[in-house]
Amino acid sequence: MDCIFCKIAAGEIAAKTVAETAKTIAFWDISPQQPVHVLLVPKIHYENIAELSTGSPEHLVDLMQLGTKVAEELSTGSFRFTFNTGVEAGQSVFHVHGHITSTTPKA
Ligand code: AMP
Ligand code: ZN
Repeated sequence: MDCIFCKIAAGEIAAKTVAETAKTIAFWDISPQQPVHVLLVPKIHYENIAELSTGSPEHLVDLMQLGTKVAEELSTGSFRFTFNTGVEAGQSVFHVHGHITSTTPKA
């Protein structure tokens, strides 16, 4: 399967990694929309949050825990954690990912 986030998770394509667990990788968005903009990607291919939540809830929990940890490290504690789901909602990469964004980076 030709999936860019599977390739990043496998280390086949480089990314600016922020943190990682056995189940999840966090890396800077290539086109940041906020001063903090990090993507949380499970190391297993599901198309969106709905499929991940039923297909592998343990990956979802791990992703949420790593995401909130990264958000608290990089921001003052105010952040958004969003999952664009479906083309009309702005999803452009069809390997589920959460966006951590914050306008208030930690100094
Ligand atoms: P979405 O539009 O919610 O599917 O989000 C996809 C995100 O992936 C966008 O914010 C892109 O800037 C980001 N993106 C796409 N390719 C890469 C890449 N190779 N490395 C880092 N971020 C990427
Ligand atoms: Zn994938």
